Amino acid sequence: MQSNRTTATLQKLLRVATDFGATDAVLIPVDKIVVEDGLAEKCTRPRCINYGLSKSCPPHVGGPEAIRKRLETVDFAIFFKIEVPSSILYSGQGRELFQLLHETAARIEQEAVKMGFSGARGYAGNSCKKVFCRDFLECRVIGESGQCRNPDRARQSMSGFGINVAKLYEAAGWPFKNVVHDNGAGAVTGMSSLCGLVLL
Ligand code: SF4
Repeated sequence: MQSNRTTATLQKLLRVATDFGATDAVLIPVDKIVVEDGLAEKCTRPRCINYGLSKSCPPHVGGPEAIRKRLETVDFAIFFKIEVPSSILYSGQGRELFQLLHETAARIEQEAVKMGFSGARGYAGNSCKKVFCRDFLECRVIGESGQCRNPDRARQSMSGFGINVAKLYEAAGWPFKNVVHDNGAGAVTGMSSLCGLVLL
């Protein structure tokens, strides 16, 4: 049972998400977060072009086993989405949208820590190497054993942990949009949805 104070804090965090750029954000029951080994294996079969390129993607993350363990200690989960026209996502601006996705997850996490959820952790999608460090030869963490260049912005990808994103949309009561339509003239139409998760 949540205290009034906790409820108010969680509501504030949902506002942080939408103020920062999310289209919507909701609390979802932690037991609705489904982790599947087979989804994590999709990073290797066939091998994703981003596999092994950053410390935020397999094999440098703990995978399904680690997230299942983490979920045992999680009290609340915030799921958010950023809806964008598919034409923009699949244009030259797609990278900026994924930056916003990572930064939104990071911002909710940072505000949650300030509000007392010391173990808060945000998760995004897509490789942070591609999203933030495209112009560098290597991820600084795995290439030089150094510090991440973007510790306040880049977050781990949900896919490397085998988190079933479609089930998150189901838990949120949102339609799962990842539809790209070709209108016959070669133009991409319709809306797509990027999403992130913050465990508290
Ligand atoms: S240094 Fe770049 S590629 Fe490596 S974890 Fe940080 S953001 Fe990702």
